[in-house]
Amino acid sequence: MQLFEMTWPQVDDLSPWTPVVIPVAALEQHGPHMPVFTDSLLLGEIMRRLEERMSERVLFTPLMWLGNSEHHLDYPGTMTAAPRTYLDLLKDMTYNMLSHGFRTIVLINGHGGNVVPAQQALFEVRQELREKDDMLLYSMTYWDAGAPPSGPEFTQHRMGHACEWETSMILHLHPHLVGDYASLEPVPQVLTCEPAHRAWITNDRSPLGYMGNPAAATAEKGAILLDRFTDNVVALLDRIIEETNTLAAEIDS
Ligand SMILES: [Zn+2]
Repeated sequence: MQLFEMTWPQVDDLSPWTPVVIPVAALEQHGPHMPVFTDSLLLGEIMRRLEERMSERVLFTPLMWLGNSEHHLDYPGTMTAAPRTYLDLLKDMTYNMLSHGFRTIVLINGHGGNVVPAQQALFEVRQELREKDDMLLYSMTYWDAGAPPSGPEFTQHRMGHACEWETSMILHLHPHLVGDYASLEPVPQVLTCEPAHRAWITNDRSPLGYMGNPAAATAEKGAILLDRFTDNVVALLDRIIEETNTLAAEIDS
């Protein structure tokens, strides 16, 4: 079900145990070769495929395109909420749907900078509503929802930024939006001094704004990645639906 198509009485008629999916992405620089709306385009495509497969069982809200992208703000075109504003935005959206009676909220994320805020927002909501025992709050990031494809054709084994993976997927979906990527030199994806987590702005790592190996991108790899990521998200959402049904049976019995 798509929230944007529904009237309030239709929403009111839904079971409170209908999981609500809130997709969250970003609008930020993606290197010299890709559009600033990359994360929202990619998550939008994953959501479109998800809706085809799960629309009977899940309520989807529209995608929130404003993300936590302050680390990309030195690059023209980037739009961001301030980090604390973003945390509150995610909490507000979660509270909105909880206040309408829904019990399972799932943030599905498509941008690295949103990972920590999504977890922190739901952590805070859970603490604030600690007396509640009929609520499930989850966040996931689409490329981390399961094992990624690992064929020999891939030079990257994890998500970068405007990288082999993202460039491949945009090449598959919107080739006319991709500029010259073939001449871009690879930029390391690892942070210095891992496993310490370094706080960074993009320019610390990549003056041109990409991390990974965009020159290795192909539309064919993009098709493989999108299929796998969609399957992974569907499988994880299935587990969340199962968990929801188990809790519903306990509470309603
Ligand atoms: Zn991205």
